[in-house]
Amino acid sequence: MIVPRPENAPDQVAIYMIVNGNKVLQSVPEDAANILPQLDSKAVASLWQHAAYRARIGTYQGTPVYLLDTDEPVELAGFESLPLRQLLHRVDSQLFALAGRACQVAYFIRTHLFCSQCGQGLEEVTDELAVYCRTCDYRTYPRISPCIIVAVYRGHGDSAEILLAHGVRHPEGLYSVLAGFVESGETLEQCLAREVFEETGVDVECIEYVMSQPWPFPHSLMMGFTARYRDGDVTPDGNEVLAANWFTFNALPKTPPPGTIAAQLIDAARTKCGC
Ligand SMILES: [Zn+2]
Repeated sequence: MIVPRPENAPDQVAIYMIVNGNKVLQSVPEDAANILPQLDSKAVASLWQHAAYRARIGTYQGTPVYLLDTDEPVELAGFESLPLRQLLHRVDSQLFALAGRACQVAYFIRTHLFCSQCGQGLEEVTDELAVYCRTCDYRTYPRISPCIIVAVYRGHGDSAEILLAHGVRHPEGLYSVLAGFVESGETLEQCLAREVFEETGVDVECIEYVMSQPWPFPHSLMMGFTARYRDGDVTPDGNEVLAANWFTFNALPKTPPPGTIAAQLIDAARTKCGC
């Protein structure tokens, strides 16, 4: 549970997500014992006082975790304000999720100063994470954008294949599973079938849910599936997807690293195909 604007810093040592824009204060030495600052109430006093926004955002292995959103990059010996994305492979998924939450909460507060309905100033709600317009009685919550991500497979055993695509935003040579945002009034299954068809011209069936992962760039929730090929020739849309192809599991191109939901969906499809 998120506790907005706690009055005082905790007495005990806590982990601090010190956010400035899309950057998080993290250790500069790669091998530092603590990647994120762990401070007691005395050490954090000045930062706490000068933070533009504060919230308790969770716990990590029994240690409380706090967000301090700052107007300027903070200077702390051994630490530097670096992009959130750089934390991805430095901490485990639980701590990264908390860092992502910190950035999303800070982004929400900073981008919701005025009512989108009547233009008056908004006030923060104290009992939950939301902002409220007193003039038109309108409450706004942090935005979360649902997104499907899917590994499409066909065949069985050694001849089984997976459909991978090189997207317009991918680094050169990288192929991944397909993904896209859910539209208003659409089920996840409809979204999945539409995205796969639009991007590659392929129809799918046997859609199965695998797992989900928050993806805080800036506020997506990736919902991961596998789906079996039904029909159609692969035709990249040339817009979102520049190239797409079937690959056997023992001859995959460069794909996203372990730990990403894409890598886990490729593994799930491999298991489905019995190879
Ligand atoms: Zn309003």
